[in-house]
Amino acid sequence: MKILSVNAGSSSLKFTLFELPEKKELISGTFEKIGIGNSFYTIKLNGEKIKREVDLKDHSFAVKYLIEELINNKVIDSLDDLDGIGHRMVHGGSKFTKSVLITDEVISEFEKCIDLAPLHNPANIIGVNAFREALPDTPEVAVFDTAFHQSMDKEEFLYGVPYEWYEKYGVRRYGFHGTSHRYIYKTICEKLGRDDLKVISCHLGNGSSLCAIDSGKVLTTSMGLTPLPGVMMGTRSGDIDPGIIPFIMKKENKSCDEVLNDLNKKSGLLGISGISSDCRDIEEGIEDGNERCALAFEMLCRRIADYIAAYNNKLNGADVITFTAGIGENGDLQRERIIELIKSLGVKIDSEKNKITIRGAFDKISTEDSSIPVYVVPTNEELMIAMDTYDIIN
Ligand code: AMP
Repeated sequence: MKILSVNAGSSSLKFTLFELPEKKELISGTFEKIGIGNSFYTIKLNGEKIKREVDLKDHSFAVKYLIEELINNKVIDSLDDLDGIGHRMVHGGSKFTKSVLITDEVISEFEKCIDLAPLHNPANIIGVNAFREALPDTPEVAVFDTAFHQSMDKEEFLYGVPYEWYEKYGVRRYGFHGTSHRYIYKTICEKLGRDDLKVISCHLGNGSSLCAIDSGKVLTTSMGLTPLPGVMMGTRSGDIDPGIIPFIMKKENKSCDEVLNDLNKKSGLLGISGISSDCRDIEEGIEDGNERCALAFEMLCRRIADYIAAYNNKLNGADVITFTAGIGENGDLQRERIIELIKSLGVKIDSEKNKITIRGAFDKISTEDSSIPVYVVPTNEELMIAMDTYDIIN
């Protein structure tokens, strides 16, 4: 079966076409700058990358070009060859606890969650509608970033704030990167031949979150109502004292939205280093003797180590720690430092294996006598979306 995995943003649309159940990636690509001028798309097929500059007035144009490319490159013979489309949907609120077949009712329930993700959810809907128009007979499935975390207990997902905020407005911890954490959990269980693992999953990329999973149930996760809290990230602050917000509003005569923008886009590694949100630039800065880069690196590692220690307690002793995403899969220096910072737990890194486990490699990077084994597990949210779609339409 050919299943298309789609991630629609406000001005972009990423896709990967898989052959399932073989899990074979046939073609992938990204449409960028949709509706904002100078638009283009890139396609990866048979190891080659093609770039085309085209006018993408809206998402329907991206879908049109996408279908043309699939047919012209003989990836499919006709639209009938597309068996299903899976969409990444960001915020499913409390309504969606797992992936679902998209119907009008699903769309209208998802629309009710727009308040919770005003930038992401409308873009996801635009993506779904563009495909529905072009391929009205192809089943579409919604895969939510928040769904996996819906298994958290109330004691974990509630904030210590007036209970009415939860009742009236749905103020609670939702968590994100759920599709990635679920993929990692599934993969590590398959690799180790177990289905009852207690895992601390560290998804460390430009956006980062940790998740404590016990036998497939999420005990807790570090992001919240929004993707802002938790560990320090590329441009996001992670956890802060909320009192900082009105304090800076007054000091800098800024609106709440402006301060939130600072916390989302100008904080984290970028805010501390003053140079970049990218770990590779931070490492270069450290080599050049830049102290703010060294500070940013250390802050990032400490925040993550603190969460791992707390989640180990939450799990009453984890069976495995996993690292994934851009930093988790490639940042050997970050992994080394994080593990050094949790040495009180008895976790020990195999420095040689850690150095060479990069660029999409799966491996154990801890020593044989480490109290908790540590693995690098490359994530694949696109494949998880396609696998859910395959399961649901079957
Ligand atoms: P992601 O959001 O998962 O695509 O991750 C992107 C981030 O991964 C970048 O912003 C970098 O900070 C980080 N990254 C990518 N390659 C490396 C590397 N070789 N060493 C350290 N960090 C890396």
